[in-house]
Amino acid sequence: MIEKRQFYIDGAWVDALEGRDHQVIDPATEEPCAVIALGGQADTDAAVAAAKRALPGWMATPVAERIALVEKLLAVYLERAEEMAQAMTLEMGAPIALSRASQVGAGSFHLKNFIDAAKTFEFDKAFSEAFPDTRMIHEAVGVCALITPWNWPMNQVTLKVGAAAVAGCTMILKPSEESPLSAMLFAEMMDAAGFPKGVFNLVNGDGVGVGTQLSGHADVDMVSFTGSTRAGRAISKTAAETLKRVHLELGGKGANLIFADADDKAVKRGVLHMMQNSGQSCNAPSRMMVEAPIYDRVVEEAAAVAQSVTVGAPSEDGRHIGPVVNAVQYDKIQGLIETGIKEGARLVAGGPGRPEGFNKGFYVRPTVFADVTPDMTIAREEIFGPVLSIMKFETEEEAVEIANDTPYGLTNYVQSTDTERRHRLARQLRSGMVEMNGKSRAPGAPFGGMKQSGNGREAGILGIHDFLEIKAVSGWAAE
Ligand code: NAD
Repeated sequence: MIEKRQFYIDGAWVDALEGRDHQVIDPATEEPCAVIALGGQADTDAAVAAAKRALPGWMATPVAERIALVEKLLAVYLERAEEMAQAMTLEMGAPIALSRASQVGAGSFHLKNFIDAAKTFEFDKAFSEAFPDTRMIHEAVGVCALITPWNWPMNQVTLKVGAAAVAGCTMILKPSEESPLSAMLFAEMMDAAGFPKGVFNLVNGDGVGVGTQLSGHADVDMVSFTGSTRAGRAISKTAAETLKRVHLELGGKGANLIFADADDKAVKRGVLHMMQNSGQSCNAPSRMMVEAPIYDRVVEEAAAVAQSVTVGAPSEDGRHIGPVVNAVQYDKIQGLIETGIKEGARLVAGGPGRPEGFNKGFYVRPTVFADVTPDMTIAREEIFGPVLSIMKFETEEEAVEIANDTPYGLTNYVQSTDTERRHRLARQLRSGMVEMNGKSRAPGAPFGGMKQSGNGREAGILGIHDFLEIKAVSGWAAE
């Protein structure tokens, strides 16, 4: 059993002041695999105090030196990539091949994009040619609390830490209590990279404890949060008292609009994207909306693709999907599958219970429902499991109306070879991202949502921007 009860505060691993034990459960076996400590107010206060002390020095550190430290971090991260992949596979159940390629890969990708973006960004510049004596200075927001979820652990940690570090912020990371092992390994990497003490701190804790203490702390200037819409709402309320900046990346219920002129791979791509990471992605294309003339063929193909998705142990190599993260998620997903059946959706692949051959572990069958209507619970709620809902539409207008009829607005998808239609839809869909024909966004392009999917933008230059204040200075001696 792994025992890791310490926190990383002020450049050192220290014992918890108010720690209570918390078992990390391996989702593949349902057995404890590690023990950590969940901190209390005294631990939160110690970490915030260290970050506050370190702030003036870090803000005054030239940007080039801050970037150089992130470059060192990236080198250490790549050296210890295998350890990182193993940690995530153990704690949250991503199959090892997915951990090595995508879970670890997302982290190095984001760090590299922050380095590139920061090198060309003018943190300090004249307001305009006409008014060179007005200066625009971009400086750190200050002490930042970074609260992250378990589903893409390093993706979220690097999106926040990388941006905060180059922006000149000091920080306290509170990773999800479900995925603390990868975060503690990341803290070792920050230490090895040589960041000045107090710039980066890590305290483990739960949402009610450390999460709430950080959100309400008078010495925390900003909370950057990724997780559920429920917690985003709670954090916003707690943070309102001190009027700190609240940066939110929340849930989603992505629509994937498949038109009759979609390319041949569109359906397969949509189903596999839904199933990836066992459906535990905020940008999952969970509502497959299909134009009426091709509906029956698409349902048949989607069912066949889902049936071809295998489920297996995270430790085994291969392209299978693993378990979902914990008992709460497992029960929630099972409940929603039952609700889908009860409300009249047509089950065409998967269904309730564990896949054949499994009697323990939080394994879910890759599931597809057809004939889902917009009022059904499975069309409205974020399931966060390998469950796809297929819906039919007659016209483009109807498709837009249904796609936008959700409190969420993170990513929508369009599959059509008609360029004009794609461009029209890209403007009409209310989401922070629209992904068309399976083309990925440019490195460093902003990730974030509208409506109840949040208000922040992460990655690249806009991700750094969210950790900056803009100061307008007049009377500057023009160069
Ligand atoms: P969660 O909201 O329960 O937990 C996320 C983090 O917030 C954890 O560190 C948790 O300890 C903390 N937390 C929980 N309640 C809190 C509170 N009241 N105050 C402060 N902190 C609190 O979510 P989860 O189950 O870990 O993650 C799944 C959810 O995250 C899904 O809804 C998913 O869509 C969303 N998500 C969104 C994005 C995005 O970028 N938009 C990315 C990944 C996950």
